[in-house]
Amino acid sequence: MDLSVVVPIYNEEENVALLYERVTAALAVTDLCYELILVDDGSSDRSYLLLKDIASQDQRVKVIRFRRNFGQTAAMAAGFDAASGRVVVPMDGDLQNDPTDIPRLLAKIDEGNDVVSGWRKDRQDTFINRKLPSMIANGLISRFTGVHLHDYGCTLKAYRKEVLEGINLYGEMHRFVPALASQVGAKVTEIPVKHHPRLYGTSKYGISRTVRVVLDLMTVKFLLQYSTKPIQLFGKWGVYTIFAGMMSGLATLYMKIFEHMSMNRNPLWILTVFLVFMGVQFIVLGLLGELNARTYYEAQGKPIYVVRERLNIEREAL
Ligand code: UDP
Ligand code: MG
Repeated sequence: MDLSVVVPIYNEEENVALLYERVTAALAVTDLCYELILVDDGSSDRSYLLLKDIASQDQRVKVIRFRRNFGQTAAMAAGFDAASGRVVVPMDGDLQNDPTDIPRLLAKIDEGNDVVSGWRKDRQDTFINRKLPSMIANGLISRFTGVHLHDYGCTLKAYRKEVLEGINLYGEMHRFVPALASQVGAKVTEIPVKHHPRLYGTSKYGISRTVRVVLDLMTVKFLLQYSTKPIQLFGKWGVYTIFAGMMSGLATLYMKIFEHMSMNRNPLWILTVFLVFMGVQFIVLGLLGELNARTYYEAQGKPIYVVRERLNIEREAL
């Protein structure tokens, strides 16, 4: 199997038939052996019935139906888990992505990339509540993760299957896969892709998505940099705050001895107590984090490193 196309579907009854037609037409001109995995994320409209119909007519179409709405990330994760293609391409089910871009994404993978991200260069969405927040989010994500992409939010991307295997998705994290993949050594690139306005159905998101993305960015940044050494983050701030507390404590003493200022009337003394207390909290938090990191990695038998190749080492010896 060369290719698995994964599409999350949530209340897209007007779109599914057209989606199937367009994907089939776009891939018919290639000689790829592919599957189309449609994940119904608990739709309350006729989407599932239509999917069932399509699947009964075409063996290449596989359908997963969730019991309730679990969100786009979960739907995509379910599709990734079921995918057997060498390359996995997720795309939106609302016809905003164009399946005719898929061969170009694959060509980029064949050039030796592990992840090819679509970039909706000419994005057909409103400016204020879509494009502007997205520009800010992409800037932040690029800066914080060190993986510079113009369009993290574009669902249309291509991944080599192996890259997805080590990545578990939570929250709204499907958009961070390129950053997570690059952390395990994947080669990431991007190409411009087409984008169409949404003709049928409504968008499932509002402006509140921005907050969720920022929170997920914090999580990703923390996981990427400190998941194996939380004390290095919290402990550092703990040491800084305790040091600042000691400085303000010394200042209080200095004022007491040389300027005869009563300690219990000096606000710096309160600051001292506060900072030292905070510092101790930070360090204890870091230690708890270390304990959790050990549980996390050891309970799952997860190594803290990623190996590209092993030479002359037997599998059993590991
Ligand atoms: N989607 C989903 N579950 C959800 C929300 C959305 O599977 O809870 C799907 C939706 O059907 C569509 C894709 O995710 O195929 C992108 O959603 P949408 O077009 O609403 O997002 P936008 O393009 O507005 O960012
Ligand atoms: Mg859309």
